[in-house]
Amino acid sequence: MRLGLDGRVAIVTGAGSGIGASVARALALEGSAIVAADLHEDGIEPPADCAGRWLAVPGDVATPSGAERVVDIAVETFGRVDVLVACAGVYETGTLEDVDEKVWDRVHDVNLRGSYLCARAAIAEMAKRGYGRVILFSSIAAQTGGGVAAGPAYVAAKAGIIGLTRSLAQKAGPLGITVNCVAPGVIDTPMTEVMGPEVKQDVVSKVPMRRTGSPDDVAFVVAMLASEPAGYLSGTHLDVNGGLHMT
Ligand code: NAP
Repeated sequence: MRLGLDGRVAIVTGAGSGIGASVARALALEGSAIVAADLHEDGIEPPADCAGRWLAVPGDVATPSGAERVVDIAVETFGRVDVLVACAGVYETGTLEDVDEKVWDRVHDVNLRGSYLCARAAIAEMAKRGYGRVILFSSIAAQTGGGVAAGPAYVAAKAGIIGLTRSLAQKAGPLGITVNCVAPGVIDTPMTEVMGPEVKQDVVSKVPMRRTGSPDDVAFVVAMLASEPAGYLSGTHLDVNGGLHMT
């Protein structure tokens, strides 16, 4: 079965690092034009053979103007938006006592509000053509409470994304647009470097697949959700955690 991503226009936020970089590459290799958005331009590297269908857009997608700008640039450059992957995120390891309010706000601004702002702007464009695929990023932390690693601001923001996914799926479904989210487990990216080797080793011992995930493990699932044949899958969250949930 073909994914039907050839010739599509995809926005990927957080494309300068980790999972977002892998997703942008995977969709580009399937033939999509990519608008790769991240805070900074360095690191937003296109794969080979993507000349004319890869655009790096630096900026903050957690503000209304930043989110709208990315969608506007996609339309100006490639004519439309078919896929949004809202991968930009920031992590937080605070305890009950020490979650600074500024940290709380930033974590919610980027993870939850930013996902909403990008989805709102993208869905308005997708609705004009009656087609779209929106993929948001939750986390296993939303379901486990974060364990010894993630703090309450991050856990709450990622849990909010599951509710946001369901709400947007209900509202955008009649417009021909699916909305889903993925909930990765522990994936090897700069974000999880703060966990340190001992915590990671402990996690690995509990993962049935006995390893941490790679960004490509997640990119594969995102590509499936972004694909044309996935048109009857909406409002879900998909765990990509090597089976960790069951232990
Ligand atoms: P990462 O390597 O840290 O990449 C996140 C990217 O998002 C970074 O390039 C970051 O830029 C960018 N970003 C942050 N705030 C932004 C903003 N306001 N506007 C535009 N770009 C922004 O993290 P990752 O591990 O790939 O995570 C990707 C997504 O998966 C996140 O939503 C994360 O919460 C989620 N997730 C990850 C894991 C995991 O184990 N890695 C597990 C569950 C969920 P800077 O580096 O400059 O800040």
